[in-house]
Amino acid sequence: MSTDRPVTIADILARSIGYLEGKGVENPRLDAELILAHALKLGRIELYTHHDRPLTEEELAAARPLVERRGKREPLAYVLGEWGFRHLVLRVDANVLVPRPETEIVVERALALIKDVEQPSVLDIGTGSGAIALSIASEHPGARVVATDISEGALGVAADNAERCGVADRVEFVRGHLTAHVNGTFDLVISNPPYVPPADWDSLQPEIRLYEPREAVVGTAQTAAVARRALPLLLPGGWLVLEVGDGQAQEVADELGSLGYADVRITNDLAGRERVVEGRWA
Ligand code: SAM
Ligand code: GLN
Repeated sequence: MSTDRPVTIADILARSIGYLEGKGVENPRLDAELILAHALKLGRIELYTHHDRPLTEEELAAARPLVERRGKREPLAYVLGEWGFRHLVLRVDANVLVPRPETEIVVERALALIKDVEQPSVLDIGTGSGAIALSIASEHPGARVVATDISEGALGVAADNAERCGVADRVEFVRGHLTAHVNGTFDLVISNPPYVPPADWDSLQPEIRLYEPREAVVGTAQTAAVARRALPLLLPGGWLVLEVGDGQAQEVADELGSLGYADVRITNDLAGRERVVEGRWA
């Protein structure tokens, strides 16, 4: 039976959760809360403390399309248009990989390696949203960072993020294949290159397969190419830090060893997976 009772926050939350659940979304409640809080300009807690507040037509019209986009399995980060990475909130859209929690560990490791360098020069290869480059610039106030990407769309997002994060004066963007058009020498070369084997693409979750840029995710020889190209750009004692895919760490560590890198080491991510490989140019 229909009633004339207006739609409340509790109603739309319950409906959105059920809708997202039916679409196979992994965390339907969390995602519904974040989308509705964003659309209604409320804190997540206020969805509950104001649960019986009726919604206006405008509010419903703002919320519905966002919930529907998530139902089509568009990544939550694209639906919200922004995503947290370490201390930063980055603008993200379909031009860039959604920054991942494991990459926060890669940055953590790199910052530890350069903490005693007063003004480190840093190169981030394949910067995407700028997550790595901008975090290093913002967390190491002496750092100067060069960030490259092959994708013009990604560099546009990253440059915008540099402005928003207040570090644009210390970050320079270069468009090109890997290190092409990069000048200078570096205390740290860091990269999260595309490393997912092409054969794995079809089995990735729809959020990745249907929405994220394929060239940001899939790559075969990119990791080794980054390791080789970093060599002539590293200052003596400089570090290479790489994010690697599941099961790739030992092979990449061996590769660094045979290229002549010293102090090669593997660090796990928070899920206990071997995720970061580093080496020093001695
Ligand atoms: N650094 C970001 C992060 O960690 O969230 C994005 C990493 S994403 C896995 C890889 C990035 O490398 C994408 O932005 C992609 O456009 C870029 N890329 C792919 N092939 C490249 C190439 N040959 N030269 C430079 N960048 C490339
Ligand atoms: N970690 C990403 C994923 O799970 C891939 C990122 C990359 O290829 N560097 O798909």
